[in-house]
Parts: sequence; C-alpha cells; structure tokens
Amino acid sequence: MNTRVDVAGVAVATGHFIDGTRRGSPTTFEDRTPLNWDLLAEVSRGDAGDARDAVRAARNASATWAALGPDVRRDYLHRIADLIDERNHDLAVVECLDTGMLEASLRERVIGRAARNFRAYADLARDYQPRRWSSHGTTNTVLRMPAGPTVVITPWNAPFMLATWKVAPALAAGNTVVLKPAEWSPLSASLLADIVFDAGLPPGVFNVVQGLGDEVGAALVADPLVRRISFTGSPETGRRIGVAAAANLVPFTAELGGKGPFLVFADADLDAAARQAAVMYDDAGQVCLAGTRLLVDARVRDEFVARFEAALAHHVLGDSRAATTTIAPLIHPDHLARVEGFVERARRAGDRIVFGGRRWRTDGLWYEPTLIEPHAGDAEIVQREVFGPVLTLQTFVDEDQAVSLANATDYGLSAIVFTRSRERADRVAGAIRAGTIWTNCFLVRDLTAPFGGAGISGIGREGGDYALDFYSDLTTYQVKDGTTNG
Ligand code: NAD
Repeated sequence: MNTRVDVAGVAVATGHFIDGTRRGSPTTFEDRTPLNWDLLAEVSRGDAGDARDAVRAARNASATWAALGPDVRRDYLHRIADLIDERNHDLAVVECLDTGMLEASLRERVIGRAARNFRAYADLARDYQPRRWSSHGTTNTVLRMPAGPTVVITPWNAPFMLATWKVAPALAAGNTVVLKPAEWSPLSASLLADIVFDAGLPPGVFNVVQGLGDEVGAALVADPLVRRISFTGSPETGRRIGVAAAANLVPFTAELGGKGPFLVFADADLDAAARQAAVMYDDAGQVCLAGTRLLVDARVRDEFVARFEAALAHHVLGDSRAATTTIAPLIHPDHLARVEGFVERARRAGDRIVFGGRRWRTDGLWYEPTLIEPHAGDAEIVQREVFGPVLTLQTFVDEDQAVSLANATDYGLSAIVFTRSRERADRVAGAIRAGTIWTNCFLVRDLTAPFGGAGISGIGREGGDYALDFYSDLTTYQVKDGTTNG
C-alpha cells in the first residue's frame, strides 16, 4: 500500500518502508503542523510485527550490503546526497510544516548539511586505512567490519538532519538500517525512504518504521537481531533504551538533552556575545546544543543585558514560511504546556522573569523569548532542560566560580564561552565538562570531530571515525611473521 498525501505540493507516503516497499498499518496517528495545527497526515502506527519485519529485512540485506565494499557503497551514498540536494525544496517545505523550523534556514543550511553527512561518511569509510603494526613476531591489522542491522531512533527536532547524521555513517560502515522517526515529525524520514529508493539501494538496506516510541520503538530496540542502536532524544527515553540494549548486549549511543552554559567574561566582545546569545532563541529554543544558562561576569551584567535586549530587537515571531520570521512556534500543544509549566513554577518559586514569560498569542504555539533570573543555583529552571525559548541569567565573580556554575548541572552536552583571552579560553575549556565547547562562536561543526555528551547528556561519541568505529566491529587480525603465499 502506498498512500500519499499532499503536503505543500509534495506527495509524502504515510506508510512504512520495509524491504524496499511501502506498507501501511490498520491504525494511524495524526501528524499536525505547529504553524496552525492543521492535519498534515494520518501516519501508519507501526506495531511489533512491523518492527520484526523491518529488522528481518535489514538482517537479510546485511550480507549483500556488507559485501559491496566501501567503494560501491560510496557511490550509492553520493547518489543519496545528490538526490537530497535535488529535493532541497521538497524537504524544506515539508520539514518546515512538520516541525515549524524556519523554511529559509532549512533551505539554505540544514538540508544541505544532511547531504554533506552522506558525502562525508561515504568518503571517510572509503579512505579508511587499517591500522597496521608489528609486534611479538606478528603483523597486527585493525579491520573495520560491518556490525549488522542498526536501529536509529530520532527526536522531533531537526529530524531530517539528525537522522542523516546517524544513517549515513551506519550505511557507510556497511550496516543496514531501520529508522524510526519521532511521532511529532515523521514526514521527512518518509521522504528519505523515497530518496534511498530512487538511489537504487538494494531492498532492506534502509527501512523506515513509523509509530509511537513505546510501541514500535520499544519493539525495535528489544529485537535480538539488532546489532547497534543509535538514539537521539531525552535522557528519560535514553535510559529505557539503554536497558533494552543491555538485555541483548548491544552497543548503543545516546545523544541526549542539554543545559549548556553560555559564559560571558568581562574581557569579551560584549556585542558579539549578546548577538550570539540572542541566537539561542532560534527554532524557539528547541535546540539541544543551545547555551541556555547565561553566566555573566557580575561587573558587566547590566551592560551585557542591555546589549542582549537590543540584539533581541531583530527577532520576529511568526509563520516559519515567511522569510522575515526568526522565531518559530513550539512543536506541539503538549510541549507548549510543558514550557509554560516550567516558567509558572519558576515564577512561583520566586525566580525573577526579566522579560517574556508568556505566550505570544493565545491562538498559536508561540512562546515569547524569555529570560529568568533564578533565586538559587539549584532552581528547577536552571537544573532541567526546558527545550523552549527560555534562558536563565546568573552572575559570577571570578573564573573559578564561572567554571563551577558551568559544571553545576547533571548535563554535559555543550558550552559556549565568550572571552578575548586565548589563555582563559584554553583554561576554561579544560575545566568544563561538556562534549563540545565553542569559544567566540556557535554551531561551527567539523564532521570529523567527535560529538556527544557527558553526564546525562549522553553515552558514546559519533562524528567522523568515531561514528564509523561505533557502527563497526573492530577486528584485530594477527599474522605470524614468515607466513608466506602458497
Ligand atoms: P524523546 O526521548 O521523547 O523521543 C525520542 C524518540 O524516542 C522518538 O522517536 C520516540 O518515539 C522514541 N521513543 C520514545 N520511547 C521509546 C522507547 N521506549 N523505545 C524506543 N524509542 C522510544 O525525545 P523528544 O522529545 O523527541 O526530543 C527532545 C529531546 O531530544 C530533548 O531532550 C533534546 O535535548 C534531545 N536532543 C538531543 C540531541 C543531541 O544531539 N544530543 C539532538 C536533538 C535533540
């Protein structure tokens, strides 16, 4: 069954993609756009049977895909990348409606990055040089062998880019994949299945199963045929998936939530820092890497806040399809209620709302950019990820206190530091617990660098060779010296 719906002029399949064919489910779930809550699609609600079939398809395709080798796989993955670029418009308009992400940013930045993920990993896998050395009278070689069927589970924010970030290295390493996108934004995964089909990959190499996390998602991660699980989402779900992975002794990576510190030292370029801090409200703050805890040297607090408020003047809340809009709506009414709940509890706890702290309009899912000064460092608003346009502001008196505040949550995904001093930057970077630290910049990414979180922000690293190692079984192969041909 290949039911398609029209989403902004793009025909999007609403079923699963298993073993190279589309199929539906007897039941569906509703997918609505955060822009006006119109229904976009009734999407197949997969069950344990769909999960089992998808994993079996991936297992059956494993040997063929592995045997093709990195050169042939590279050609396939480059074709996928080219098709992503060709369908940039379709992907951007569908992802915009499905998630509320800004269409211009999707077109100009995000979709292109997804294509680059495929090219970069395809090339890296092809160029892998096995490590080789002599010891104990033997020649040692480290081989990267495909690990097998891989389950990829993604969250609702930036779903296309995040899916490709995992699917590309898994396929490049020679694994087959079952992708389950989040139920609040399932459509771009369906377009990825079309692209993989058009790129001519053998059936079963890439599969998409739609459905709810605790139904089909739980069935996928519990399947004993799965050899790798790669998850991006919340720490709560990460824990559950970790238990399922442990039951089958399957390696898994978890890229989880963040509560990144944004440090502004007195020697910083305050205008640049303020402009960068204003960017933390982009995508309505639904960005795991955002620096949501502003930590500012007490001596420049007032000056920084004034410049920050001035930098916010450029923000325009509105329809994500309009070129002028900079702040999108939140993804879902439940999520808006969650964000509102955080702010209301903060208000009741005695935290000071510096600005914002309410919905932008009563009839939509927008929330005003909000800044809160907490009454204490252990306040809920400081300690828990809001995942909305809500930042906190704390001050420090010296570098030691800055570092200690930066490290004062259970998270450890990212940090942003503004200082003019290279010595201070290096010192602070060495003392902050975070997977990624940006100094005087943000979101600059080299795809070969490791990526992941410390603490409850994650387990494992992806990116470059780190990802390819994760998706591989590393084999140490030893040959006794003197072993000859014949
Ligand atoms: P979530 O954990 O609720 O859901 C993520 C995915 O897991 C969804 O596809 C969901 O269906 C699935 N799922 C839920 N229960 C499951 C189960 N028992 N078994 C298998 N799958 C299950 O997260 P979310 O609300 O979709 O995403 C927001 C979170 O993701 C935030 O915490 C955010 O910080 C985090 N995130 C992290 C990164 C990163 O790179 N570290 C990137 C983006 C988002």
